[in-house]
Amino acid sequence: MELDIFRFLRIRKKLEIEDENNFAYLKKGWLGEKQFDELLEGLPNECLILNNLLLKVNNTLFQIDSLLMTQKKINIFEIKNNEGDYFFKNDCLHMITGKEIKNPLNQITRSESLFRQLLHELRFNITVESQVIFINPEFYLYEAPVKAPFVFHAQLGRFIKNLESIADSEFSQGHLRLAEKLASLHIMKNPYSRLPAYNYGELKKGIIGKCGCTFMEVVNQNYLICPRCGELEHKESAVLRSVREFSSLFPDRKVTVNGVMEWCGVISKKRIRQILFKNFQLIKMGKASYYIYPGEEKEKD
Ligand SMILES: [Zn+2]
Repeated sequence: MELDIFRFLRIRKKLEIEDENNFAYLKKGWLGEKQFDELLEGLPNECLILNNLLLKVNNTLFQIDSLLMTQKKINIFEIKNNEGDYFFKNDCLHMITGKEIKNPLNQITRSESLFRQLLHELRFNITVESQVIFINPEFYLYEAPVKAPFVFHAQLGRFIKNLESIADSEFSQGHLRLAEKLASLHIMKNPYSRLPAYNYGELKKGIIGKCGCTFMEVVNQNYLICPRCGELEHKESAVLRSVREFSSLFPDRKVTVNGVMEWCGVISKKRIRQILFKNFQLIKMGKASYYIYPGEEKEKD
């Protein structure tokens, strides 16, 4: 979600260099996690995968990039998509060029210990193992300790094979309940979020294409087109996507015909009203009428 918001914002306003760097960093991390996730999804055995968990125990927050639950144990993974040459010294990773990076070993040890505490609180007894996955083939670590819980790109194939061999028995209901519990404990709003500041007035209005290139233009009565890559989209789905974007950027603002018309720019009021009426639930309050997502609860006054 954070990455999406970045994507929208950088089309709607010019970001500071620092924000652009944060965006690039987030995107790279996300790509690494996605790659690893695809590997896990290829596992033929019965297992549960939970990605990107932000959890809390004893008022301490910790993040788990990826969690794999099988009958016998839980693996938690910290995924690194760094590239370049590094060396390992005094328990830390240093770039050959001299820059020190956040120590993934500390990160994973901390997460593992907090996660154990959480399992203890939930009264669930299962073996926990953790690994740092260096997913990028362009990453190299000199002096890597043999015993460190590191998995390098060249080892991934064997690592996954090994996971396949350990888990073939079926889950108990307890496992499933634990997974559901963990998912429910996930904290949606990340206090570490490095989103740039923004306000409604400064953002350029219009409908950003699904492709994410730029703002879409009207082709005919029913379709919009991305002038950069030529992708077409039906007006209705484009407006709905844009309203979702609006709500994620401004969760406190109500969805109204006028508001959506201003936000989307290129669509007539009549059409917006039709689309909202068809897909949302109208809360009638005369001039202050607004729409809510179906199933969403009406605000209590
Ligand atoms: Zn495009």
